[in-house]
Amino acid sequence: MLNSPVCHVLLVEDDAGDASLVRQMLRSSIQPRFEFVVAGSLTDMRRQLDEAMPDVLLLDLSLPDSSGLKTIHAAREAAGALPLIVLTGYDDTEFALQSLDAGAQDYLVKGAFNADGLIRAIRYAIGRARLEQRVHDAEERWRFALEGSGDGVWDWDVQRGEVQFSQRWKEMLGYAEDEIEDGLDEWTKRVHPDDRALVMADIQAHFDGKTATYANEHRVRCKNGDWKWILDRGKVVSRDASGKPQRMIGMHTDITERKRIEERIRHMAQHDTLTDLPNRALFSDRLQQALAIAKRDQLRLAVLYLDLDKFKPINDSLGHDVGDLLLKEVAQRMQACVRESDTVARIGGDEFVVLLRNVEVEDDAIRVAEKIRFALNQAFVIAGQRLFISSSTGIAIYPDHGSDEIELSKNADMAMYTAKQSGRDNVKLFVPERDAAPGS
Ligand code: GH3
Ligand code: MG
Repeated sequence: MLNSPVCHVLLVEDDAGDASLVRQMLRSSIQPRFEFVVAGSLTDMRRQLDEAMPDVLLLDLSLPDSSGLKTIHAAREAAGALPLIVLTGYDDTEFALQSLDAGAQDYLVKGAFNADGLIRAIRYAIGRARLEQRVHDAEERWRFALEGSGDGVWDWDVQRGEVQFSQRWKEMLGYAEDEIEDGLDEWTKRVHPDDRALVMADIQAHFDGKTATYANEHRVRCKNGDWKWILDRGKVVSRDASGKPQRMIGMHTDITERKRIEERIRHMAQHDTLTDLPNRALFSDRLQQALAIAKRDQLRLAVLYLDLDKFKPINDSLGHDVGDLLLKEVAQRMQACVRESDTVARIGGDEFVVLLRNVEVEDDAIRVAEKIRFALNQAFVIAGQRLFISSSTGIAIYPDHGSDEIELSKNADMAMYTAKQSGRDNVKLFVPERDAAPGS
């Protein structure tokens, strides 16, 4: 339109003299050349618009079938986003502003403009309408993208401490549009207490310019009391002259499902699938952590190696499935014999290890090992049958029988071997001169 050689004008004007004056003014222009159509009323304008859309609408507000702002509203409705310039004999600033608010791109007072002024106004109106359309399109695209992505948006006036939330943000937490107030408190009070410090630290780092954008994963409480995992991303979009943040915008993405799957994968990597006890890798982690603490605080700890006696015959006579059920029951009984802070792990077919923290004397470890032996000696009822099993356990104490994971594990294993050798169904504390293999 702006660059094309012809500009189509629809002049809505019932006064023939005024119409002719505008026509003469526009006739003087060569680039662009103005093609000119006149409508004498609002009805006539609608008919003309139906036939062909012009590039610009020049609108007199006093028409036989409409007057004042009503004329602008009606023209806007009929002409869509078309550039619209009001031509009026009414020279009043307040009214001019109202006209712009009602959707006009410009406002010209009859008798107060010449040909150059009118042509400039038309060019300006076309340019402005195009810009407005672009902003409108961009906003629509942005809104569409946000709604489509399912993310909740927040808009934080940092200096006033006010936060506004998008409808989707409220929906995400299970609230209806009017059920939750906009405000900073509404946001912070929903963040999980364990995550608050980290969220604030990440925001502060972004405020201080240490990060280009803010990003944090944390939990928020929903209306029904559940916790949701949220990926929170944001950016300061304006700062004052001293660099202090004024406004920050961000979005919340619901990552609860992803976190659940990640947690499941992590759990599977660290646990035995049959008994759900920690596996060798997790046991090793826990033992190393416990050793570090024991070294620092000069504490003792115990490692127990336990192997079921004659488990193979149970498998062979009753089937692998019964053997599996027995292993699960054994795991539960062993776990019931230790404290929350201790760890029972399954490291092989019928082999289990136990980490006992804070063992003051050897007898403490022996007492727990005997408790386990006794618990496993009691009848198991599996698939309607009473089964009996016994176990052999070896114990190594830190620091008495080893200073690291490898040494302690090896010595507990050797004590267990001694327990097997001495008739099974018993507990043996490691004795170097008795258990150590020749040359080890
Ligand atoms: P011992 O008293 O010398 O320990 O004899 P045992 O029969 O218990 O033999 P051992 O400890 O050497 O072998 C353990 C057996 O456990 C071997 C295997 O058949 C069985 N096993 C290993 N993994 C599983 C499992 O996941 N499920 C079942 N049901 N059996 C398993
Ligand atoms: Mg065995």
